[in-house]
Amino acid sequence: MSTTAPVSLVTGANRGIGRETARQLAALGHTVLLCARRREDAEQAVAELAPTVAGTLLPRRLDVTEADGVRGLARSTQTEFGRLDVLVNNAAVNYDTARRAVSADLDEVRRTLETNLFGAWRTAQAFLPLLRRSAHPRLVNVSSESGSLEHMSGGTPAYGISKAALNALTRKLADELRAERILVNAVCPGWVATDMGGPGGGPVEQGAAGIVWAATLPDSGPTGGFFRDGEPLAW
Ligand code: NAP
Repeated sequence: MSTTAPVSLVTGANRGIGRETARQLAALGHTVLLCARRREDAEQAVAELAPTVAGTLLPRRLDVTEADGVRGLARSTQTEFGRLDVLVNNAAVNYDTARRAVSADLDEVRRTLETNLFGAWRTAQAFLPLLRRSAHPRLVNVSSESGSLEHMSGGTPAYGISKAALNALTRKLADELRAERILVNAVCPGWVATDMGGPGGGPVEQGAAGIVWAATLPDSGPTGGFFRDGEPLAW
């Protein structure tokens, strides 16, 4: 299926902020690969969202911890579209507010990094050849102010450290890809009322809007930044 519409991919898009990000990108006319760990979850989200948007939503199975699966989806996307314009690394786990760094189970920390850091990293590596074939490539790492070293406090060790590392990865990728005009930014969606955020947070529409802003920056837009609602955040 070839298309002149921007082709976007969102990980962890069957629920929460990822789902709403996929919806908003499709509403802008993008062709969106809506990815979920379970194929049926991706299909269900697409069935619910597709009638409401102008663009095309396509369900795809993707577990970001499975290297073969990530590479396989990159290959099939290459065959199908020949490029990727927007990659949103949204999938994440384990907002471990009840844990402390002094006593954290390091196996749990390692599992968290496997999704929140290495999942984003391997997906970026696998899709980089496709982003290089885009006229306006954008990479968005969905991060959190929990990963800000400036505001770092105790508690939530696995999650906070995974997001600090994701922020560092954002800086590395942005610098290495600057000459190729691939804009790479980290975005905190703010506190959002999802399964992860719990009750009391803001609406998913606003959290996703800041991600969509970074995913649709003009060529003159920033790279290597950390943003919430389009405004810079302290690293
Ligand atoms: P959520 O409701 O818990 O959704 C997480 C999504 O990630 C789900 O679709 C989940 O799939 C998917 N996922 C988990 N592990 C995966 C894997 N190995 N491969 C592929 N997908 C996987 O979380 P959310 O609140 O929407 O958060 C989205 C992003 O925003 C995350 O990066 C989070 O850290 C960030 N964030 C959220 C808040 C907040 O207040 N909510 C604040 C700051 C930052 P399953 O359904 O299969 O589990």
